[in-house]
Amino acid sequence: MRRPMVVANWKMYTRASDAYVLATTIRNQVAAIDGVEVVICPPSVWLSEVSDIVKKDGKVNVGAQNIFYEEEGPYTGEISPIMIRDIAKYVLVGHSERRFHFGESDIDVNEKVIAALKHGLSPIICVGEKSKSAPIGEAVEQLTEALRHIPKKNYQNCVVAYEPVWAIGGVEAAPVERVVRAIARLREDIGRDSPILYGGSINNKDVGEFAKSPHIDGVLVGSASLRAGVFIEICKIWAEAKTFK
Ligand code: PEP
Repeated sequence: MRRPMVVANWKMYTRASDAYVLATTIRNQVAAIDGVEVVICPPSVWLSEVSDIVKKDGKVNVGAQNIFYEEEGPYTGEISPIMIRDIAKYVLVGHSERRFHFGESDIDVNEKVIAALKHGLSPIICVGEKSKSAPIGEAVEQLTEALRHIPKKNYQNCVVAYEPVWAIGGVEAAPVERVVRAIARLREDIGRDSPILYGGSINNKDVGEFAKSPHIDGVLVGSASLRAGVFIEICKIWAEAKTFK
C-alpha cells in the first residue's frame, strides 16, 4: 500500500550508547506525529535493542541494512532473513554503498529481494544512476533486475528508494524535478501500490520541497538521521505535508 514514509539509514555509525539515545528520542518524539510511517535501520548489532526500544509504543518500525539470501550455512559474517524476521519489518536491499564497496550485483540484489519476501520482510529496493550525466535508464534497469521472478502481486510488499548515487552523502539533494521524473518512470514498473521514496542528502531545510510532490511518498535519510532533532523535524514536515494535502 502506498503510504508516507520516512526511513533512517544509520549506516555504520552509532556506538551502543548513541543507538540507545537516538532510538529512544526518536520513539518518544514520533509518538506525537501522525500520518507518516517512520522506520529506523540501525547497524545489525543494534537491531534487537532498537527493536525493543521502539516496540514500546509501536509507532516506529525497524529495518535491517542488509541480509544474505541463504537461510543458514557456512557464510561467516552474514545475517539470514530468518534471523531478523521477528525483529525487523524492512530490509534495505541494493544500497549503492553495498553495490560499490561489497560488489553486490543485480543478481545478488534480486536474490535478496526474493529471500526477504519469502520470509515476510519488506525489501526497500535502492536504485539510482551513478553519475549526474547518466540516464535514468540505469535506475530503471536496476529495478527490473531486482524484481525478476517476483510475481506482480508481491510488488505491494516492496518499497522502492530512488537514490541517485551522485546525490548521496553530499551536501545537496538532487533537483526535485529530476527526482519526480525518475520516480514517475519507476512507478510505471512497480505499479501503483508500492511506496517510492527519494534518498540523497535530504535534510530538514530542503525536505519540504520534496514533500510537496504527490509523486514522492517518502524519504530515505542517511547522515541527517543521526541527529535526532533534525530527523524528527523531517518526519514532522513529511507528515504535515502529506496529511493536509
Ligand atoms: C543513504 O545512505 O541512503 C542516504 C540517502 O544518505 P545521505 O542522506 O547521507 O545522502
